[in-house]
Amino acid sequence: MTVFYIFLFFLLGVVLGSFYNVVGFRLPQGEEIVFTRSHCQSCKHELKWYELIPIVSFLIQGGKCRYCKHKLSLFYPMIELCTGLLFAVSFYSFGFSYDLIIALTLVSVLMIILVSDLNYLIIPDSVLVVASIIIIVVQFLSGGIKGGFSAIGSGILLFAVMYFIMFLGNLAFKKESLGGGDVKLMFLSGLVLHPLVGIFSIFLASVLALPVSLVLLYTNKDHIMPFGPFIAIAILILFYMKIDMNQILSLI
Ligand SMILES: [Zn+2]
Repeated sequence: MTVFYIFLFFLLGVVLGSFYNVVGFRLPQGEEIVFTRSHCQSCKHELKWYELIPIVSFLIQGGKCRYCKHKLSLFYPMIELCTGLLFAVSFYSFGFSYDLIIALTLVSVLMIILVSDLNYLIIPDSVLVVASIIIIVVQFLSGGIKGGFSAIGSGILLFAVMYFIMFLGNLAFKKESLGGGDVKLMFLSGLVLHPLVGIFSIFLASVLALPVSLVLLYTNKDHIMPFGPFIAIAILILFYMKIDMNQILSLI
């Protein structure tokens, strides 16, 4: 039965991943999300339902538009596949629990941010607001009044820490080093992680981003690299690992 549920969550993730592509792509441009039909980026041909099946349509069409043969980006089916896999991993790790809801929310935020931050260097506020509300409700349900408020307190603390880091960064580099979206994202980190683990997530995100930024530095000098996806990945890794303080202190 567990295998059946894992597969079910994989399918749910693939379908939602397809939706997150649309959200991450259209939201920063202020486009309508639900009722506008998707179209080919190149020839603007409106896509039929059978051309919108996540992953499957891409494979059947050989990664090309059926009309103008424009090569489709592999990025979007990869988002669908990754969302599916991470949904499956989330269910496998947490089963039916409050933590599962938090994990699925974090995966969703990560995927939307990947699309929006890589395309536009924007983390949509509405995505963070919706995710925060879902997680706060879950924290109150699972941890009671005390658990709920301590999660919010930890979120505010992490927000403040990141804001301070941004302030220092702007002073040191005389230009914007971190985006406001990155600071707001740390609020989410505090909601789901112990405050000290949350601070560790900033460090982990930097470690993850370092090799990528070095490659970009050599290949493209003025490329601005979004930091948001790395923060989201770091939060997700730490949440999956459910790292407690002792493990982190022993690492340091
Ligand atoms: Zn086309």
